[in-house]
Amino acid sequence: MTSDSTQPTGSHDQLTFQDPVTRYEAIEPPAEKKPEPGLDSELTPKADLGEHTYRGTGRLQGRKALVTGGDSGIGAATAIAFAREGADVAIAYLPVEQSDAENIVRIIEEAGRTAVALPGDLMDPEYTAGLVRAAVDGLGGLDILVNNAGKQMAVESIEDLTDEQITETFTINIEAMIRLSRDAATVLPAGSAIINSTSIQAYTPSPNLIDYASTKAAINNFTKGLAQQLAPKGIRVNAVAPGPIWTPLQPTGGQPADAIPEFGHQTPLGRAGQPTELAPAYVFLASPESSYVLGETLNVNGGTPSP
Ligand code: NAD
Ligand code: MG
Repeated sequence: MTSDSTQPTGSHDQLTFQDPVTRYEAIEPPAEKKPEPGLDSELTPKADLGEHTYRGTGRLQGRKALVTGGDSGIGAATAIAFAREGADVAIAYLPVEQSDAENIVRIIEEAGRTAVALPGDLMDPEYTAGLVRAAVDGLGGLDILVNNAGKQMAVESIEDLTDEQITETFTINIEAMIRLSRDAATVLPAGSAIINSTSIQAYTPSPNLIDYASTKAAINNFTKGLAQQLAPKGIRVNAVAPGPIWTPLQPTGGQPADAIPEFGHQTPLGRAGQPTELAPAYVFLASPESSYVLGETLNVNGGTPSP
């Protein structure tokens, strides 16, 4: 168990009995479009990454995890939760996100765990090719890979979809995921987990997200195929499918500016999710307690029906 000083002190951690409708307010962020990739530190309103709300219960004691996009949003919340659950964590992120990453490194270390920072661009084949090895070297091993980095850029008309955007979306969202999973498969011991961030967009694509949504459908399919291939080796592969979650991805072009104030209001819960509400799903799929769960997509979306 991590020491008590690293645990939330308030009465509202994720294990407190509470109403999911009112756990967080329905946010109404300003209608704006900022440049990619954006910073958590500049998000208005601020997102909950679990800094003061995620309580660990020793479920990942001694584990070693690589989380791509671990500087902000869902990946950062996952990295914090993993550390509080007893894991050492390497985070991969873009160099321009260094300040967000330093914040997450600090929180991991405050939980008494080792943090490894691995800045680089998944569009750079050399960086991607060395990433799993860098994590193994930095952590002294690896038994959890979270493929979470992603690009989402809304474009109203297919006529305006550039070659550059198509290539970037597919390279970052699905090609890098396949490459990193391939490299990890050679080093992950039996008992390890690979967890891929997919999306509700895999099933119900928004008309302005056709490139992004199709990568997310590919991720679901990839997850189910690879899960079968790696099952005999004792490596479990699963996915998490978030609904609308308040992260830097959204106000940096993930949604058109005029959709931002209403973000998440259409869900049955009536509000956007906060990144830390995703963390228990990743913890569950990483932990040995999910030993018979493979090829599954765990939807965490505020109640929107999904297959
Ligand atoms: P985020 O912006 O906090 O995280 C995305 C991360 O991807 C960035 O922090 C960045 O480090 C990484 N990234 C992007 N381009 C990269 C590149 N070229 N090289 C290296 N890293 C790169 O946003 P998030 O919403 O937490 O996104 C995490 C995952 O969750 C993504 O795969 C996203 O598609 C998925 N998702 C998000 C939502 C949502 O509503 N926020 C919904 C469904 C799925
Ligand atoms: Mg980021």
